[in-house]
Amino acid sequence: MRYLSLASGSKGNCHACSVGGRTLLIDAGLNLKQLKLRCEATGLPFDSIGAVAITHEHSDHIGAVGVMLRRTPWAFAMTPATKRAVEAIHAIEIPDARWLRAEAGHALDWEGWSLRPFNLPHDAEDPVAWRVEAGGFAMAVVTDLGHPTALVADHCQGLDLLALEANHDVEMLREGAYPPLLKARILSRVGHLSNESMGELLQRVLSPRLQAVVLAHLSEQNNDPELAAGAARLALGSHGAALHLATQREPLSLSIASA
Ligand SMILES: [Zn+2]
Ligand SMILES: [Zn+2]
Repeated sequence: MRYLSLASGSKGNCHACSVGGRTLLIDAGLNLKQLKLRCEATGLPFDSIGAVAITHEHSDHIGAVGVMLRRTPWAFAMTPATKRAVEAIHAIEIPDARWLRAEAGHALDWEGWSLRPFNLPHDAEDPVAWRVEAGGFAMAVVTDLGHPTALVADHCQGLDLLALEANHDVEMLREGAYPPLLKARILSRVGHLSNESMGELLQRVLSPRLQAVVLAHLSEQNNDPELAAGAARLALGSHGAALHLATQREPLSLSIASA
């Protein structure tokens, strides 16, 4: 399995999972031009992409849906509530033939892959994270959640790779320049995951199978990659999983071998 972070952060999010020559994108927050450039830079064949799983309708996750709908044949996996929100925001209609209807807690079959969305505490219509199983591999992308829930921890068991939000350092956010209302939103139970909460969640999902942890959706203003990595290392303890950071501008590509 290949995992790629093509962009990660408040300015745009797009992850990719590639198995057996087929690629699924998770979120569409990177414009098509940059997506093509970053596929080229990482050697991911652009024409291997067949579908996009959407987590929620915030602009950093769906910015490119309209263009993707017009210029690619890709299918879009999302829940009905998220679809309605995306269609309203972009003034588009996603035809049934291009829609993979998703329901939180239920696995969706995409050409033999299992795509399972599960609910997250976040201030959107019907926010989900995605667990993807294909070719004997299991991975999940879990970003945009205000706090770690038992349900999230349950869905992150037995993964080979976990891309997990480490949005902010609470002190940096509190003392930083963001307006008070925005600070309150980010810190709320339906905002974004702090380094500390990331560590708490990570500790609950460690298994012998876990090979790689990718810290994602880091705030450029309210976090320091060293602080995020420190919190993750503390949670990992003696666990041997490799730790990586996903960033806004540089793609990250990882190959995961079968255990
Ligand atoms: Zn986001
Ligand atoms: Zn969001």
